[in-house]
Amino acid sequence: MHHFHYQKDELYCEQVPVSEIARNVGTPFYLYSHATLRQHFRAFDGAFSDLKHLTCFSMKSNASLAVLRLFAVEGGGADIVSGGELYRALKAGVDSQKIVYSGVGKSIEELKYALQSNILLFNVESSQEISLLNDVARDLEKKAPIAIRVNPDIDPQTHPYIATGLKESKFGIDINESLKEYARAATLDQLVVSGVSCHLGSQLVRTDPFLDALKKLQGLIKTLKHSGIVLRYLDLGGGLGITYDNEDPPHPKEYADAIQKALDTKDLTLILEPGRVIMGNGGILVTKVLYTKDAREKKFTIVDAGMNDLIRPSLYGSFHGVQPVKTSGRKKIKMDIVGPICESGDFFAKDREVETLEPGELLAIMSSGAYGFSMSSNYNSRPRVAEVMVKGRQYDIIRARETYEDLVKGERIPDFLL
Ligand SMILES: *Cc1c(COP(=O)(O)O)cnc(C)c1O
Repeated sequence: MHHFHYQKDELYCEQVPVSEIARNVGTPFYLYSHATLRQHFRAFDGAFSDLKHLTCFSMKSNASLAVLRLFAVEGGGADIVSGGELYRALKAGVDSQKIVYSGVGKSIEELKYALQSNILLFNVESSQEISLLNDVARDLEKKAPIAIRVNPDIDPQTHPYIATGLKESKFGIDINESLKEYARAATLDQLVVSGVSCHLGSQLVRTDPFLDALKKLQGLIKTLKHSGIVLRYLDLGGGLGITYDNEDPPHPKEYADAIQKALDTKDLTLILEPGRVIMGNGGILVTKVLYTKDAREKKFTIVDAGMNDLIRPSLYGSFHGVQPVKTSGRKKIKMDIVGPICESGDFFAKDREVETLEPGELLAIMSSGAYGFSMSSNYNSRPRVAEVMVKGRQYDIIRARETYEDLVKGERIPDFLL
């Protein structure tokens, strides 16, 4: 469920016409629905209410302060993958004791920052990271709570770029190797061995891979217990998929019920790291038609947003719905919706049936809340777009559109070129 809907012929976000925002903010812009995000968070978090659990929103899907604030107010934590994300999480008021930190390449500075911030859990991903974290913690006279991120070697049946739990993937420590690392970590003075974590990949549309992983993790937890290592946290990662086109992923309730049924103990605190399932359908990208063009083979609609604003179609061949902000009743024709970037990969939709469009009309690229703005760049020296959040009848710009000055901020022409 989301709150982007038509009233008569007009697309609304909650109670605000999208065209009204476009008039005031200009295009392109990302638009998020507060009610949708809150509802998605509550549906997910609420589905686990019978268990000791913590929902850590995966910030790489959307790191806007306003978005983080919304989830923090709802009691959510954050799953971070960099020092920059930690900074944002703290700035937005996320409780540091609800922050978990994953990533294969945490730098020494990042480890220090996270230790000084007293985060809940370091999801460590290599033997060397374990040693380094212990050293850094000693220097700072801190204890570092760790979970080993294990690689359970499970095929999530998703796009190869977003599959992360296969044995050929760079993430985590092989689940069989992890016993050795647990034993070693337990001997290191500054580490508190607290949990186990995994993350299988993204846009999973079935529960089986999660249950297979859970089974393997529970096996590991038991083996560790026998050798005297008792864990408190079981972090199942994120990855639950959404409907972009005609996918039929399990509802969070169904996902939670399946997990709950498969759990063999209620002693552990379950950590979940959802990103896409909460954010994805909570946001759209609003863009304006610049030109239409009839080439020999194709009809192109050229819009003012590009792959630098939303890279998913170019990067993964992902599907995003494309809807007119004002429906015209004109007939639908097949077209490619493309951006202004000088790359053939710069498209949002190919051979898509959309109502005939005229320059100046607005289009909504649907399901763009996750991995939209957060993956955007300044490629082609395009200022990054504005972000807007609607709540009921109100809306606010939660991130200003970048200016040309922003584009050159920090740059310098050296003296030897003057
Ligand atoms: C990306 C990521 C997530 C979130 O994945 P979604 O598919 O957006 O739910 C969670 N945990 C880790 C470690 C990740 O890298």
